[in-house]
Amino acid sequence: MRILVCGGAGYIGSHTCVALLERGHDVVIGDNFSNSSPKVLARLQRITGVPVACERVDLRNRLALIRLLLRHRFDAVIHFAALKAVGDSCKRPLEYFQNNISGTINLLQAMQAANIHRLVFSSSATVYGDPEAVPVQEGARLQVTNPYGRTKLVVEQLIGDLCHSQPSFHVANLRYFNPVGAHPSGLIGEDPAGIPNNLMPYICRVAAGRSRRLSIFGGDYPTPDGTGVRDYIHVTDLAQAHVDALEYLADNGRSLTVNLGTGRGVSVLELVRAFEDASGRKVPYEIVERRAGDVAQVWADPSLARRLLGWRAQLDVDAMCRDAWRWQFMNPDGYSGRVAGTGRRPARGFAPTNGATSPLRI
Ligand code: NAD
Ligand code: UDP
Repeated sequence: MRILVCGGAGYIGSHTCVALLERGHDVVIGDNFSNSSPKVLARLQRITGVPVACERVDLRNRLALIRLLLRHRFDAVIHFAALKAVGDSCKRPLEYFQNNISGTINLLQAMQAANIHRLVFSSSATVYGDPEAVPVQEGARLQVTNPYGRTKLVVEQLIGDLCHSQPSFHVANLRYFNPVGAHPSGLIGEDPAGIPNNLMPYICRVAAGRSRRLSIFGGDYPTPDGTGVRDYIHVTDLAQAHVDALEYLADNGRSLTVNLGTGRGVSVLELVRAFEDASGRKVPYEIVERRAGDVAQVWADPSLARRLLGWRAQLDVDAMCRDAWRWQFMNPDGYSGRVAGTGRRPARGFAPTNGATSPLRI
C-alpha cells in the first residue's frame, strides 16, 4: 500500500515508517516539523536503505492537505500529527483544539476529497482518565482530565460519527499506553524539546549527567512500592501494530479500537532499576510530592489487539531501557547534534543491532 504518514517525522511516526518500509509498503511523510527535525529523513534512509519521500505540510492548512492527497494515490493515512504535552495543553487549550481537532477535520475532509477510506489514528490511554479497574479494557468508561486528552477523545468520537455516516470509511483507533525506547540502531528515537516531562527521557537525561537527579512524583501511592505504575511499551512493538492495523483495515473492511500495551504494570522505581542495569549508570533520585493529575496505576488489557490483529508486544523493559540509553548515548543532543560512536568507548550493552554498523555517521 501507499501510505501517507502524517506526523511521520516524529518519535512514533519515524519508527512506524521503518516498520512500513520493512513490510514493503510505500511511505510519504507529511509533517510541519513543529516537534521534529528533517534530519530524521537521512536517518530513516540509513536504516531502511531507501529514500523516504516527505512533504512539509501543516494539517491546519486544508487546501494544502487536499492538494497533497490529490497529488498522490494513497491507499490509507496514518495520523500521528498532534501536539501532545499535557501540561502545555492546560496552558493553551485553544492551540491544542485547533491543531489536534481542527487539523484532523481538515485531514478527514482531504481524505474525502481524495476518496481515501482507511485511517489509523494515534489515540491514547489518556482517554481512560483514572480507570476504575486495571487492566483496562477498551469498554472501560472514557473520561478525560486535561485538554490534550479531550482532543483524543473528541477526535475518536468525530471519526466514529464519520464512520456511521459513510460505511465505506474505516478507522483503527490505537490507544497507546506509555511508548518508550528507540530503534536498536540508535539512529532514531525520542528527542523532546527542552526539559522532558516524561519519565524515560528524564531518566536518560539524568544517566547522561545532564540533570542531577530524577524527581519521583509520589512515593505513597497504593502500589507495591508506593510509586506510580504504568504500562511501558517499546516503540518498535508499537510501530509493528500500526502496520498490522493497516493490513487489518485493508483485509477486513471493519473499524476497530484497541489498546496497545504489554499488559504489565511497571513502577517508577522498577523502571529506574532496570535502566541502571541496562546502562551501567546510576540514576540518582529523590521522592517528591505527587504530580497534579497523575493516577496511581494504569496498565492495559491488550488481548483484543491480540485477537483482532494477531499482535502482541515482544520486547521487555530491559530492551526498552537498553535501546533508550543507546539512543541517548549516541545522540546526546538529539537530532541537532552529530551521531556519537567514534573514539568513545560504548557503555555496556551497546553493540549496534539490526545490521547497523559501527561507527555510525550521518
Ligand atoms: P511527536 O511530537 O514526536 O510527533 C508528532 C509529529 O507531528 C511531529 O513530527 C510534529 O512535527 C507533527 N505535527 C504536529 N502538529 C502538526 C500539524 N499541525 N501539521 C503537521 N504535522 C504536525 O509525538 P509522538 O510521541 O510521536 O506521538 C505521535 C502521536 O501519538 C500523537 O498524536 C500523540 O498524541 C500520540 N500519543 C503519544 C504518546 C507518547 O507518549 N509519545 C502516547 C499516547 C499517544
Ligand atoms: N514520573 C516521575 N518523574 C518524572 C516523570 C514522570 O516520577 O520526572 C512518573 C509519573 O508520576 C508517572 C510515571 O512516571 O507515575 C509515568 O509518567 P509519564 O509522564 O512518563 O507518563 P504518563 O503516564 O503520566 O503519561
